[in-house]
Amino acid sequence: MSPGPNGGGRRTSRPDPLTSEQRRLNMSRIRGKDTKPELVVRKGLHARGLRYRLHDRKLPGTPDLVFPSRRAVLFIHGCFWHGHDCPLYKAPSTNADFWEKKVSANRQRDALHNAELGRRGWRVLSIWECAVRGRGRRPFPELMDDIQGWFAADATEGEIGGCWTNDTAANADSRAAGANQGDA
Ligand code: ZN
Repeated sequence: MSPGPNGGGRRTSRPDPLTSEQRRLNMSRIRGKDTKPELVVRKGLHARGLRYRLHDRKLPGTPDLVFPSRRAVLFIHGCFWHGHDCPLYKAPSTNADFWEKKVSANRQRDALHNAELGRRGWRVLSIWECAVRGRGRRPFPELMDDIQGWFAADATEGEIGGCWTNDTAANADSRAAGANQGDA
């Protein structure tokens, strides 16, 4: 995407040269926008003729992909940052408390964003990183089918994770308040 706002000359006169917008951009970069799983999903959907807008900051949570005519948005979530209950989420051994809090705050924020999007009439599909990469990844055409299938169905909220999601169903706590497990 755009190379970022840091093209200008470096000035030291101001203590805090970043606007909040720039800070948010940097933050989103740190949190993994335009990460590889996202690019892979984007390419796949584009190849199937689906058209979307990217990173619409006017919508809660800045959805990665926005499909205005379908009134649907799609997030591609990194399993670590968003606290997915899967083998890609490894709690760091140092500063465990810090990370735990951070990730759980991210999860809460995700839930709030999803709820707000729903209130505004948007359908929300979350694709977990582990559906795209790692040993639990779904065969790609199947993943694309699942996404298209979700578009065609009428669930307001859904998620697609890696192939192990069934194995870990036993300790899948009820996250995101009643969100349907979009396993299929
Ligand atoms: Zn995962």
